[in-house]
Amino acid sequence: MAKGKINVSVENIFPLIKKFLYSDHEIFLRELLSNATDATLKLKHLSSIGENKIKIGDPIIEIKIDKKGKKIHLTDQGIGMSMDEVKKYINQVAFSGAEEFLEKYKDSAKDSGIIGHFGLGFYSAFMVAEKVEIITKSYKKEPAAHWVCDGSPEYSLVKSDKKERGTEIILHISKDSKEFLEEARINTLLNKYNKFMPVPIKFGTKEITNKVGKGDKEKEVKETVDNIINNPNPAWTKSPSDLNEESYKDFYRELYPMQFEEPLFNIHLNVDYPFNLTGILYFPKISNDINVQKDKIQLYQNQVFVTDNVEGIVPEFLTLLRGVIDSPDIPLNVSRSYLQADGAVKKISNYITRKVADKLNSLFTKDRAGFEKKWNDIKVIIEYGMLSEEKFFDKAQKFALYPTVNETYFTFEELKAKVSKNQTDKDGNLIILYASNKNEQHSYIEAAKEKGYEILLLDSPIISHLIQKIETSNKKLNFSRVDADVIDKLIKKENEEVSKLDEKEKEKLKTIVESVVPKEKYTVQLEAMDSTAAPFIITHPEFMRRMKEMQQSGGNSMFGNMPEMYNLIINVNNTICTEILNSKSKDKKERLIKQSLDLARLSQNLLKGEELTSFIKRSIDLIK
Ligand code: ADP
Repeated sequence: MAKGKINVSVENIFPLIKKFLYSDHEIFLRELLSNATDATLKLKHLSSIGENKIKIGDPIIEIKIDKKGKKIHLTDQGIGMSMDEVKKYINQVAFSGAEEFLEKYKDSAKDSGIIGHFGLGFYSAFMVAEKVEIITKSYKKEPAAHWVCDGSPEYSLVKSDKKERGTEIILHISKDSKEFLEEARINTLLNKYNKFMPVPIKFGTKEITNKVGKGDKEKEVKETVDNIINNPNPAWTKSPSDLNEESYKDFYRELYPMQFEEPLFNIHLNVDYPFNLTGILYFPKISNDINVQKDKIQLYQNQVFVTDNVEGIVPEFLTLLRGVIDSPDIPLNVSRSYLQADGAVKKISNYITRKVADKLNSLFTKDRAGFEKKWNDIKVIIEYGMLSEEKFFDKAQKFALYPTVNETYFTFEELKAKVSKNQTDKDGNLIILYASNKNEQHSYIEAAKEKGYEILLLDSPIISHLIQKIETSNKKLNFSRVDADVIDKLIKKENEEVSKLDEKEKEKLKTIVESVVPKEKYTVQLEAMDSTAAPFIITHPEFMRRMKEMQQSGGNSMFGNMPEMYNLIINVNNTICTEILNSKSKDKKERLIKQSLDLARLSQNLLKGEELTSFIKRSIDLIK
């Protein structure tokens, strides 16, 4: 029997592990199962290169809970260890790794920490166990070994009579970790971390029903079989040519069993140079409200779940996607701030962005009608990407769509060509009209339609930011919401309307109106328009409104706290204006102005509550 002292400079490493990683004790299972998987894969590899002649069969890993004995057993049929190897790998490698890990971890403890505490390894067993035993037999002809350690740096190592190749780890669960003796708890952990690990993992048994016999003699027979908790060959490890639409959807359901909505399409990632990365990303249906999302992209390393917080690895706009990314090249035992500065990670992030753009482009070119149908469900992600990633913005020029209120979808180039004929202002600027709400801006949309203008329907929450960006990169092009300005004034016209009032009359009318409407809310302007157009029209200056919107949806603007200001446009050619001007009674003047103003407010959806009630009353009196 060998007794010894583990060579660690930290006097007692285990209390430290417990202290530093208190919240993440559960990862011990993932770490031990990773070791068991590695040991199994190593054996398979040796066998494949003809290194050993022994039959390996179909090795599995098994987990057993011994509730009475307060133990968890983890058994693999992998490569195993000889006495010497236990001394080397467990006493030296594992524990020096522990020290190194703690060093790193201490430095980044202030940060959000090391991702998933990956690479903690074998000694993470001591986060939940007061004593750990290893009983192991190497695939070589060597006696089996039995190692015991109670968490102090002392251990014992003796020969064992274990006959089968492989390693059994016995965890004597400590009092404060009793939760891990519950089957349900272990099930949850297995489902979270080990669902797609490459070696079958058995946890208990289950009953299945088989049909035997034919026709009348067919009957159901119950059978007890191993309960294998993982799918060792998940879709992302396969070649895209071996998968069809249905297999991608099946995998989506496997990944998110509680998600009932089907994904719109997927992107299979597969690269092995200059970094290694596989995965499948799904575009889910996303409505306008960007809710805090439950089903996120999951990050794996060699089929072991690491985290579902992919911040820093995937560009922010793509964190709204779902699916899996598996890469051994993402450094995980580093802090997130380090990660963001890491060159390899930047390359990965750029690769993902490019793949997504390419996929969108090919969907657009191959099936434009289908792409248009999906547009409303994917536009938020694309528009967000155009705003936040310059390279994506450039690529998206080809497939980003601009739908009109009549549901025609233009690309940006098509849109420019379409409006270039008759939507310019007197300075030669291209004016792109848009609405954000078909119902609320109905009267304005109708007026613009009548003039034969194209009106876009842009209703994403971040659209004002995107419009701002497009304007900056396109000289002589402006967006204007249909209610932002009087279209007659904005767009170059062949026949300007002639004013029916002379300058003096206009001046007088302006003064009368200004004496009635609140000055702090409305800037009164006179315009000569078609006599059939409304007498008063309220417009909401584009610049001010957009700045306010941008502030509401995140972004700095000093305009957010400014009071609402509107333009009140008086159509001097409407006969009501003549009546206001010529009426003798002050009362009548006031009534006409108030009624016209309220009508204008009504079409801007600004008339509400008590004011609306009194407007209705006044209108009824007028009909009488
Ligand atoms: P790492 O796995 O990162 O090398 P660990 O501390 O987890 O670090 O393990 C140290 C070493 O112990 C491993 O590299 C491996 O050689 C050996 N080992 C651990 N678990 C097993 C096992 N189940 N079967 C065979 N060898 C193992």
